[in-house]
Amino acid sequence: MNTSISVQFEKYRRGGIGKKVTELYLRDDISCGLVNCQICKTPGNTLHIEGEDRTIFILDEYTVLTQLDVILNCPKLVNVVLMQTTVHNIQKKNQNTYTSLRNLVEGEIYRNIHIYANEYSKYTYTPIQQNEKQETRDTRAVLEAAVWYQNHLKSSMRDIEILFITSDYQSHKIALEKGLNSTTIFEFVKSIKGEYPNLMDFLGISEQAMDIEFEGQQVLFQEHLTLNELSNKVKAGDLFQGKLKIDRNDINDGTVFIPKYDFEIKIIGQPNLNRALHGDLIAIELLPENEWISSNYMGDNEDEEEDFKNVHEAVKTNNSNKQLEEKYLNVVEKIKKLNLNPTGRVVGVIKRIQRYFCGEVTPEAINLPNLPSGIELREFIPADGRFPHFYLRTTNGSQLQGKKIQIGFDNWSKSSKYPLGHFKMLIGDSGDTKAEGDVILLEHNVEYRAFSKQVLDCLPPQDDKWQIPQSEIKKRVDLRGINVCSIDPPGCKDIDDALHCISLPNGNFEVGVHIADVSYFVRPDTAIDKEAQNRCTTVYLVDRRTDMLPKLLTETLCSLKDDGDRLAFSVVWVMDKDANIIETRYHKSIIRSVASLNYGKAQSMIDDVNDNSELTKSIRNLNMLAKKLKQKRIENGALSLASTQVKFTFDDETHNPVDVQFYQMYETNSLIEEFMLLGNVAVAEKIVSHFPSISILRQHSQPKPKQIKELSQILQKIGFNLDYSSNRNLADSLDKVNRPNDHFFNKLVRIMTTRSMNEATYFCTADADYPEFYHYGLAAPLYTHFTSPIRRYADVLVHRLLAAAIDIEAIPAYMSNKLKMAKICEKMNMRNRMARFASRSSSDYNTYLFFKDKQIEEVAMVSSISKTGATVVVPRYGLEGQIKFSEKDLKENEKLLQELKQNQSLIIDFVVNGNRHKLFDYLKVRVSVGMKNFHKQITLEYLGPN
Ligand SMILES: [Zn+2]
Repeated sequence: MNTSISVQFEKYRRGGIGKKVTELYLRDDISCGLVNCQICKTPGNTLHIEGEDRTIFILDEYTVLTQLDVILNCPKLVNVVLMQTTVHNIQKKNQNTYTSLRNLVEGEIYRNIHIYANEYSKYTYTPIQQNEKQETRDTRAVLEAAVWYQNHLKSSMRDIEILFITSDYQSHKIALEKGLNSTTIFEFVKSIKGEYPNLMDFLGISEQAMDIEFEGQQVLFQEHLTLNELSNKVKAGDLFQGKLKIDRNDINDGTVFIPKYDFEIKIIGQPNLNRALHGDLIAIELLPENEWISSNYMGDNEDEEEDFKNVHEAVKTNNSNKQLEEKYLNVVEKIKKLNLNPTGRVVGVIKRIQRYFCGEVTPEAINLPNLPSGIELREFIPADGRFPHFYLRTTNGSQLQGKKIQIGFDNWSKSSKYPLGHFKMLIGDSGDTKAEGDVILLEHNVEYRAFSKQVLDCLPPQDDKWQIPQSEIKKRVDLRGINVCSIDPPGCKDIDDALHCISLPNGNFEVGVHIADVSYFVRPDTAIDKEAQNRCTTVYLVDRRTDMLPKLLTETLCSLKDDGDRLAFSVVWVMDKDANIIETRYHKSIIRSVASLNYGKAQSMIDDVNDNSELTKSIRNLNMLAKKLKQKRIENGALSLASTQVKFTFDDETHNPVDVQFYQMYETNSLIEEFMLLGNVAVAEKIVSHFPSISILRQHSQPKPKQIKELSQILQKIGFNLDYSSNRNLADSLDKVNRPNDHFFNKLVRIMTTRSMNEATYFCTADADYPEFYHYGLAAPLYTHFTSPIRRYADVLVHRLLAAAIDIEAIPAYMSNKLKMAKICEKMNMRNRMARFASRSSSDYNTYLFFKDKQIEEVAMVSSISKTGATVVVPRYGLEGQIKFSEKDLKENEKLLQELKQNQSLIIDFVVNGNRHKLFDYLKVRVSVGMKNFHKQITLEYLGPN
């Protein structure tokens, strides 16, 4: 029913058709979309008028942007027309709203949404007038098009009514003047209140409306400057702009990083934060120097920082703006001279963060005299503690109690302690595993809905009975006769890779890495390709997997299980016994795995001296070669780093975690890792040699200078030298950071080193110069991702590049568009980061479940110190948390700080409970978890020195 819409949607999604071109191609045959239209030259096929309801709704841009949740939840809005101008602007202004809109257009059956190409129609094209702002023109264009629609449909079918819905009173007024049947969204929702009372809950409230409701309340915040004022002052260098980061441990503490000049502004306290939210792009005014603060502790190294430093300027400033530069450099100078951290206050929000919030409501309703009847306020507590509580307007607060819900941000009045939000979605019961998992996915913007029909239609028709066509087998190298096997974590169902190793008569080895041939099934530009391109990656929670591709592919057709023939993309090497590569071949193949092993099983086969089967012998050879490959990598400067990744053991019946510990590594983990690295490097070299400017690679830069320097400084204080002048030197010096009989110390230093690293990222080779291709951690000049196409979109792209490099397929058109590829890389990097955070949240939640109702005494090592407490890691559980300083501790630490500050730049000493400790000391702690404001809190109580 909706096909023609999606086609039109696509047409301007690719965009790029400028105004001049438009004028030349104005058409008179663009359909209004109405089925059986009496007038249109080309009959429409989207708007079906059936039964009693004979209204076609036209929604304007502001309505879609601010009231999306009403639109998504209003069953009345069946036949809807959106002007191309509207959709285009929404895409520009809010990607999330645009995606929701696209899903609505492509998804639901009962909605008939027509997008009218008003900009291409002879009847509705509205040229911009002299001195007219684009925004004003666009509003006018949409109104003109709506008027045309009303007249057009009147003459086509008499009994059809047009209703123009806006949420802007000015537009409403003009619409009425033009004779349009117009209403505001508020009036509309009110008018159908009898039929759909809950719809009121989805309604977003404007700032003016909120001010009215909060009238008579005390004014708590300073007025924000207008966007125009903000922009002018930023350009003049009188205000700073940046993305606000709220401290995880203290919601009253914010930081804004100023990228070009490499300094931070601290914003302390709610009045100074002045209604800005974590992630907002804000404008800041500096406070006088006597209010600046000192920082004597090592900075915390959360890896999300990346996101806050690579921020595009919200207000474009001129690069050669001398005045601005002077003012900024002046500040930099002062910071150096005073050795203090500047502080500031928020004077306005340039762009609000675009997201929804999961959380829960508190039991009590809040009363305000000016609330409309039937509406009450509830306090909403977001799952992410970096966001303030909200006031939620709702008609049925009591029914929301004990539930996880998702809400949207509306506004924050200067007379309100909290921002105001509206209901978006009920997730489930609090504490329910499924609901808690959904919250984690939603909070990290992971798409977890079922795949659409369009996507599933791209799969082979016979489902799991699908057979590889004979014609396809003929095109490939047939490897079904050799012992190919896979080694993965236990229970792995989406097997991306398999290997083989054959001893050659001359003492050399033939080694093959075989990767699931996902790109055979996922063809460029199909619905399934677009879906994978949007999801970018499979997301692993502790107890759940959210796939990038439908299960039929991930678990059956592509998964290289030992139950039949599979299509693979292979890299095959001939290497000598010292793992020197003699020859590399790339080809598509057909394989038949003889064993799907897990790491433990493969390890026991290697270790079992009585096992001399051909398969075991080949795995032993792979292991022998892997060790030599690893040695070579280390000699080249590759780092071996550590993470706090933990593994849970679950009770079979209750599915509650019964143990948690650091992830156990076998030699076989390393075996697989080595050959995957080797495969990725080999493919990177191949694709870059053929497509130097459109290859997708993975890059990893040097450690963050400030962080690695700080780490080196604190290690120096306890007698170790960390040389970070090159990756080779860093690797060597890390090996020497050892304390006798203290294995964990070295591991913790490696974890801290890892945190001082930038994250590895995908990039298109068009956007970087050769030296920037380097992968610092792996010490590889070229690196890419080839080995996990079932769960990573980057690998799918790389498979296509490799297929083109060996001349078996052409490069899809969009993949030679450098701009498009850069965008895809940006998205893949964002999704990867989110996937990582989601996994970590899930791990945290399970840690909470494990420690719930327990009080465990353990030994922990101090990993960092801040003003408010000491962070420690418990080696037994891989658990990290803060020992909060008591009032008494705080005073003593302030005293100690004053004492030490004279001759030390970084403080690694602290006092807790009267005892003096240092970084890397072992302490005894009691671990317990609790809930505070619906947030799990890992509490580490100090018991004494170890
Ligand atoms: Zn028509």
